[in-house]
Amino acid sequence: MYRTIRLRKRLLLWLSIAVLLLLAAVLLPESGALLPLSGTGAFLPGLSVPVSLSADGGPASDPIPPEKVVYLTFDDGPSKNTAAVLDVLAEKGVSATFFVIGAESERGIGLYHRILDEGHVIGLHTYTHRYDEIYANADAYMADIQKLSDHLQKTVGIRPSIFRFPGGSNNSTASPEVLDGIKVRAEKQGLCWFDWNALGKDDRSWVSDPWDIYQNIVETAGSKKRIVVLMHDDGLRTTAAEAVSMVIDHYRQLGYRFDVLTPETDPVRFP
Ligand SMILES: [Zn+2]
Repeated sequence: MYRTIRLRKRLLLWLSIAVLLLLAAVLLPESGALLPLSGTGAFLPGLSVPVSLSADGGPASDPIPPEKVVYLTFDDGPSKNTAAVLDVLAEKGVSATFFVIGAESERGIGLYHRILDEGHVIGLHTYTHRYDEIYANADAYMADIQKLSDHLQKTVGIRPSIFRFPGGSNNSTASPEVLDGIKVRAEKQGLCWFDWNALGKDDRSWVSDPWDIYQNIVETAGSKKRIVVLMHDDGLRTTAAEAVSMVIDHYRQLGYRFDVLTPETDPVRFP
């Protein structure tokens, strides 16, 4: 009998200690701020910000963070630098999106093939890339990307349904009316356009330092979870391969994955 009472007393003691510890943990978190209870409808008087509890009453685990993804995109190719960029992408096991222009040479068409054969995506970026012609009016623009689409169909057997406006969808070369006209027609034809939210600022009239390209991308991307990186792939971009290598290592280390743009990708567009 005495033994039973002692056991009960002990049990009560342990239970009390457990309750006190639990209360201390709830009321005195590390920050020193009072943490409220809720989620199960339990609020402490005077505390209004709720914190959710899991089914077993413990703190709910952190919500799954939004997926971190980088879309590497290269405009204006193919060029004499495309092969080096493709080599780096292959070495790193990363797929990218190439918004190409019209290439007639054997080398250029060979690069269209290589881009596709190595699992990358080709999008339209106009055949001529001549702002004065393509942005004269919406008809001119649509005729130009139709020409590029026909050219790609003929040379590599694809008809891309994604495109990028030279200068972006809000460029100041084209009037707002022309840009709106292009967008309306593109949508009617099932064509989807992408802008960008990070850029290498590598479209200068000189060769950019790869470190600058890398830093510009990281700075303009900031802490975004979905990053569409704009880089360029024309004859002057001799440092693109080196820069993209650094960009891939950087974002891989931060837990991002890499993907290609498709018509199903939620587009990043300028307002
Ligand atoms: Zn361009």
